[in-house]
Amino acid sequence: MKIAHIEVIPLDMQLEQVFKGGTYQVASRPTIVTRVTLANGIVGETYGGDEFHTQKEIVAVMQDHLGPLLIGQDVRDFQRLWENMFNVNVDLGNRGLHQLDMHPRGILLQAISALDNAMWDARGKLYQTPVYKLLGGMRDRVPVISIGGYYPKDGRDACEAIAEEVEMVRETGCIGIKMKVGRATLDEDLARVRAARKAGGRDFVITVDSNQGWDPLDAIKFCLAMEKADLDVRWMEEPIKWYDQTDGLRLLASKTSIPINVGQGEISGRACRDLITKGDVSILNLDCTLCGGITEWQRVADMAKFMNVEMAHHEEPQVAVHLIAANPHALFVEIFANKIRDPLLWQLPDGFPKISNGYMEVPQEPGFGIKLRPEVIERYRIDG
Ligand SMILES: [Mg+2]
Repeated sequence: MKIAHIEVIPLDMQLEQVFKGGTYQVASRPTIVTRVTLANGIVGETYGGDEFHTQKEIVAVMQDHLGPLLIGQDVRDFQRLWENMFNVNVDLGNRGLHQLDMHPRGILLQAISALDNAMWDARGKLYQTPVYKLLGGMRDRVPVISIGGYYPKDGRDACEAIAEEVEMVRETGCIGIKMKVGRATLDEDLARVRAARKAGGRDFVITVDSNQGWDPLDAIKFCLAMEKADLDVRWMEEPIKWYDQTDGLRLLASKTSIPINVGQGEISGRACRDLITKGDVSILNLDCTLCGGITEWQRVADMAKFMNVEMAHHEEPQVAVHLIAANPHALFVEIFANKIRDPLLWQLPDGFPKISNGYMEVPQEPGFGIKLRPEVIERYRIDG
């Protein structure tokens, strides 16, 4: 069961079109493929993350610092190996004069995530069991929503655009949409959500995401307006600016009955604890490609359950489908139904995802049950 070899391959794929959310824009789809080979020949393999600023640094940490800690170790000891990685002493310039502490921490946690997730695939293959069954096995298909509702190019009617998109999302078999808000005025965004509800009908799931776009008072205004308009929004995601988490979120939670979903930007389980105990959040959309991998994500999920907080997962359906399927208090897996927004999902995995009638099937082969196409890896690798 010993780990014999680790391979890390950075990929990047240019998008045909730039996409703008509440507070950001995206022009390419990077990711990291990680392979963990055991002495008996089993290969754990997965991909994850879409970090374009520090991809090189993440790869270097995996290859130079974390990989050597894992070689020769028993892959079954997931708590021990995680603690060894988490407590590694690597100098990434913490406390450097021009370097925010947040930056190196994010690099380290993304590196841990990639290795932890690939080792879970290896464990599944070793035990001849899909990962979601190793973690709990609640269900073998999960409801799927599409991320979308990006702002249309200048000149296009935003309400018409979102109504059309809701139609497209329905046709791809998704049960609902997560739409962007926070870049237009509150009135314009409210009209867009209204248009989405009208197009989708009462059964269509609608969630809204401002990507930390507002101060608390604007977030309160927007949530109260959505409640008054009876738009039946399933959650309000990342409503508040980065510098007013916890207290700002708690203020909003005290004013609205719409569940608040945050956590995709958090890189530690302790931060998630604080979002629950100090920020009164209702849902955590922690991302296991950022937070330290499946091992830490599942710890947070266990904590959340006892605090009546539900779980979601930010993007990354190739791993998220197993986590959402494993946990009784987990909600939806999410994809980009617009294929040009995440071309990797439709090219890199072979035969995944399978979506129909609002649900994604959980792959039933051992591990993640997803083979990656070697020719796609070769085409988009950027490590020379
Ligand atoms: Mg989000």
